Parts: sequence; C-alpha cells; structure tokens
Amino acid sequence: MSNENKTIHDFDFSFICEYFSAIERQGPGSPEVTIKALGFIDNLTVDSRIADLGCGTGGQTMVLAQNVPGSITGIDLFPLFIDLFNANAQKLGFNERVKGIVGSMDNLPFKEEELDLIWSEGAIYNIGFERGVNEWRKFLKKGGYLAVSEASWFTDSRPEEIETFWNDAYPEIDTIPNKVAQLQKAGYIPVATFILPENCWTDHFYARQAEVQEAFLQKHAGNRTAEELVANERREAELYSLYKAFYGYVFYIGKKI
Ligand code: SAH
Repeated sequence: MSNENKTIHDFDFSFICEYFSAIERQGPGSPEVTIKALGFIDNLTVDSRIADLGCGTGGQTMVLAQNVPGSITGIDLFPLFIDLFNANAQKLGFNERVKGIVGSMDNLPFKEEELDLIWSEGAIYNIGFERGVNEWRKFLKKGGYLAVSEASWFTDSRPEEIETFWNDAYPEIDTIPNKVAQLQKAGYIPVATFILPENCWTDHFYARQAEVQEAFLQKHAGNRTAEELVANERREAELYSLYKAFYGYVFYIGKKI
C-alpha cells in the first residue's frame, strides 16, 4: 500500500498491531483459564477439528495445542499477528497440526458441521456475541462445543462512568444470565460459565502492556496516535481497577444441540 492511499484507519491499525504484537496475549486471559475452560469439553480426539477465531498471536492457541489432540486452525484479520502465530507454532513443534490463516470471523472458510470445537477468547465482540454464536453454529458438528470469553456485567446496575464507557466501547455488553439466554436461544446447551480471575486483567494484560509502553512511546516520540493509544490503554486499566466489581470477562461454554 502506498502512503498516499493510507487512510487514518490503516494508520491506526498498524499502530495497534505493533503495540499488541509485543505482548503474548491481546486480551484478558491466562493459560490456567484456557485449561479450565477446556475441562468442560469432552470427546476430543486426534481427528478433531478445532478453530480459534480472532486468535491474535496465538497465546491461548498454543495452550490448547499443548492440552488437546486434533488440529487447530487459527484465524485473525491481521497478517502480522498470523505471522507471529505461525512462528510460535513452529517454535513449539506444532506446525503439523496448528495453522494460522488470515481471515475474518464473519466469513469463515469452513464447511457446515466440520468442526468439533470453536474457541474464541476476547474476540467475539468484533462481530457481537449474539451474531457470532448464531452464525458460527452451522460450522459445528452436532454435539460440538463453543467456548468464548466475553465482556459481561456482574450486576444489574452500575456507576454511570463505567456504564458510559462500555456503552461506547461495546454496547452489547450484558449480564451473565442474558448472555446465557442468548446462547440457549441460538441452539446450544449452556454447559458452563465462569468469571475470569482478576489476574487475567492485571498481571496478564495490563502489567504486560505497562512493560512495553515506554519503549513504544520512545520509538514513536512525538507521534500523537501512538501517545493516544497508550493513554487509552492506561485509562482502561485505571477504570478496571476502579470498577472491577461491576464487570469482567466471562467464559461461556455451549454444546450444540
Ligand atoms: N484471542 C486472542 C486475541 C484477542 S484480541 C487473545 O485472547 O489473546 C481480538 C483479536 O480479534 C485481535 O487479534 C484482532 O486482530 C482480531 N479480530 C478483529 N476483528 C476480526 C475479524 N473480523 N475476524 C477475525 N479476527 C478479528
């Protein structure tokens, strides 16, 4: 792409990609939580077909590969993340059964009833939870599983500041019972839900970002987009510490009926 054709969005995305590619995970999560969610899923074999949608650089995908048999396809919109994903798979010796491809979760390259498991940590919000669980269902075999983590409210009401922040960032954020009802309505048995522990946000997400922020700002000294990106992430971390009693990420595990 030439510089003349660059839109502000391309510009932003390249910064976002560079910033987040410096950390292992691009959303709240941890190896322990990935393994805990896997504990609700049975019947996986060496022939199982698994998709990890919005896989990022593959932090959670590699944990999946270490703990389940079968082949895994990671899909992400950003080529830089997929390059890092495939390098990670190679490094860990998973290149035969773990492949990352560039693609979009709203236009998946799978056949109907091809998959045993659809995984997606901190990414379904990109097309919205309700749309995602409905549209992805056809790719699962009967009895196949969906496991996604999603921002959720813990209470029926909350302080205005955090309500306003989330209504702007992701208006589809909702309470756990409402998300479970959407899952059931879409044709899944709601097998389990659990709240991700705080360390998924603090130690695994915001603390890792804090480690790379100074270097990122120095590299892009004087660049307003870079400064705004870091300021936004810092503000998010601050809001989390203020309002973590009212929201967090929740894993939703469903079995296709
Ligand atoms: N699952 C990873 C990444 C979560 S961040 C983790 O938990 O660490 C959300 C990811 O969704 C980003 O990698 C982003 O590039 C990806 N993404 C955004 N829109 C997408 C789309 N339409 N299709 C596929 N991936 C998308």
